[in-house]
Amino acid sequence: DVAESFLGRIGAVDESVGAFLAVDRESALAGAKRYDDGEKDGLLAGIPVGIKDNISVKGMQNTCASKILEGYIAPYDATVTEKIKRQGGVIVGKLNMDEFAMGSSTEHSAYKLTRNPFGLDRVPGGSSGGSAASVAAMEVPVSLGTDTGGSVRQPAAYCGIAGLKPTYGSISRYGVTAFGSTLDQVGTLGRDVKDLALITSAITGKDDRDFTTHSRDLGDLYANLSKDIRGKRIALPDEFLGEGLNEDARKSIEESVKVFEALGAKVERVSLKMADFSLAAYYIISSAEASSNLARFDGIRYGFRAKEALDLIDLYKESRSQGFGPEVKRRIMLGTYVLSAGYYDAYYKKALKVRKLIQDEYNSIFSNFDAMISPTTPTPAFRLGDKTEDVMAMYLNDIYTVPVNIAGIPAVSIPCGLSEGMPLGLQIMGAHFSEQTILDIAYAYE
Ligand code: GLN
Repeated sequence: DVAESFLGRIGAVDESVGAFLAVDRESALAGAKRYDDGEKDGLLAGIPVGIKDNISVKGMQNTCASKILEGYIAPYDATVTEKIKRQGGVIVGKLNMDEFAMGSSTEHSAYKLTRNPFGLDRVPGGSSGGSAASVAAMEVPVSLGTDTGGSVRQPAAYCGIAGLKPTYGSISRYGVTAFGSTLDQVGTLGRDVKDLALITSAITGKDDRDFTTHSRDLGDLYANLSKDIRGKRIALPDEFLGEGLNEDARKSIEESVKVFEALGAKVERVSLKMADFSLAAYYIISSAEASSNLARFDGIRYGFRAKEALDLIDLYKESRSQGFGPEVKRRIMLGTYVLSAGYYDAYYKKALKVRKLIQDEYNSIFSNFDAMISPTTPTPAFRLGDKTEDVMAMYLNDIYTVPVNIAGIPAVSIPCGLSEGMPLGLQIMGAHFSEQTILDIAYAYE
């Protein structure tokens, strides 16, 4: 009944929301049948789950919303997919995204537009726009996304739901299409913190097939949720309340400070001097890594192949020229440029040094504080088409979210006020492995 009801909701609203690239009714009903047949024990028993289209689900498409992967069907399950199935979760389909997770509005999808359920003329955010919109439109209770620079937290904020990017290495990326390998993490989305904790607990853990996963046990994030945050010390960086921040977002952060103090926490202003350099470092490092990761899409191994080619080199060239969209090409060019012999020291190596300084700064803050808060984004969701011509304006959306990936720390975004009738997000960040602490703080606030 649960699966039928969510599938019915998808049928009723997805034509206007556009969150799904593929819905697999049969496999959803087969998953639900396992519950009816008595498999009622898993953490996610009988719960429908939506999956971003860059996470492999055996037998379903995995296009990363790119033409170059058109027709590609994943021959195996990602570790997270396997875990969801093992915990009784019911996978209903694959969700729209920016092509190869590059973007902040889902407008870079080669297939369709996804709309924000709170205002259909607005973007849902990105790159996990389908993951956020599907949860906000109640097409699924929870979903998975990926977060390289904010792609789970920013769309969660824009769509008025909760989203978590865990500590780097908390969730296996085996079977997840790589973008920036030193930054990528699978993230979770749900309507509230409890749902988020539940789905996160179901998929964390060390995996021998992804050597970047860590063996530190995060505990049962769901069972251990607590609203008691008395005595917690929370930092609020001045730099995240500066230029470009919308007035309503500033006010809602000030309001949230009062809420935390009423709950018995202490909030103090701090300074993050390196914050200004995060965005530049992020776009250099992530593009460098993307240019290498995307070399595998050659028109031979997966999906799309150009029809006419003179020889092998021409086949690569034609397939990639026709298969990749403009934003992906921009990142590949930027990435190969910063990695080229003449510019490596000036850009890539410098960005790595900046990364180390940012990490040191965060570590020093977390040696004194339990958590740090900021707006998730400077503004609410913008209108469709508003930033498609202005690349820099699009990149500036990520100003508060990218430092978290650079530092490798966990962060959660939860709803916090409105602007122009659209939801705003509050971002709560913590030291490595402090998922329970930041979820507790979010739970207490909610
Ligand atoms: N919007 C950022 C980018 O375009 C972040 C993307 C992401 O986290 N996948 O790179």
